Formats: sequence, C-alpha cells, structure tokens
Amino acid sequence: MKYIDNVNFAKKQRTINGSINSDSLKRTAEILEELGGDINYTIAGSIDHKNKPVLTIRIYGKITTLCQNCLEKLDIPIDCSNDVPIFYTEADMDNALFGDEAGYDDGILADANFDIESFVEDELIMSLPIAPKHKTCNLVEYHDKPNNPFSVLMK
Ligand SMILES: [Zn+2]
Repeated sequence: MKYIDNVNFAKKQRTINGSINSDSLKRTAEILEELGGDINYTIAGSIDHKNKPVLTIRIYGKITTLCQNCLEKLDIPIDCSNDVPIFYTEADMDNALFGDEAGYDDGILADANFDIESFVEDELIMSLPIAPKHKTCNLVEYHDKPNNPFSVLMK
C-alpha cells in the first residue's frame, strides 16, 4: 500500500510500517552522491487536541553517501519523528503555518491518494545534514574555511 486517504487514515488511527530502498529515493539521490542503504518508516494517524487529523511519522535506518571532505563512504544514521497536521485547504494551511496565530510548523494537505513514499522522502530530506562529513575525517578540512572571493587576487 503506497497511497492512503490521509484524513481517513488519521481519523481511524491507523498505523503503517514499511521500508524504502535507496534506489527508490530519487530526490535524495540528487542531493547525496552514491546514495545507499534503506529507510524504515512508521506512520500513525491520530486526532490532536485541536480536533485536527495528524500523521505522526518516524523514519529510522541508515543511509550511505560520500563524505564531502574525503570522498570516502560515510554512514548517516537516521532516527527522527515528526507530527504533521493535515489541512483541508491551502488557505487553512498557510494561515496555520504563517498567519497571525500560527500554531504549527509543518503541514500537509488532505489527499485521498496521499503518496506515502514521497512523504517519507520529504521527512528524510529535511533531516539530512547540509554537507555530510565524517565527524573525525582523515583528510585535513581545507573546505571548511569560508571562500574568500578575493583570494584569487592575493596570490
Ligand atoms: Zn571524510
């Protein structure tokens, strides 16, 4: 099951588990070189205290890419979760996220054919480090120095 009616799923407090191989993570592969590994997910529906349908998503697992510094293989452990409210209209969502009384920092639209794998990948992309590197990398980190546009002129 890759598509759910997300409002119905939340109201019935359903839960779904699965895993996605990195071969299917096309958008992530555009960000991370030589992407590998698997991501597991659990999505649980509920209704929050404001009577709003919510999907609680947890993603966990390990993906691999190349260290931006030494270009050797790098493991990125993933384990994060997020409560994502469902809004019925784009106007409602904009208001809840950006309006005067903004009370949410994330949201999705009601969708009878909601794409689970795309949702998981959105969460994964948000959790990724900006420039993945080994914590203790064997290569001296030349690249950490801010680029000075005038350095060329100083040679
Ligand atoms: Zn490295």
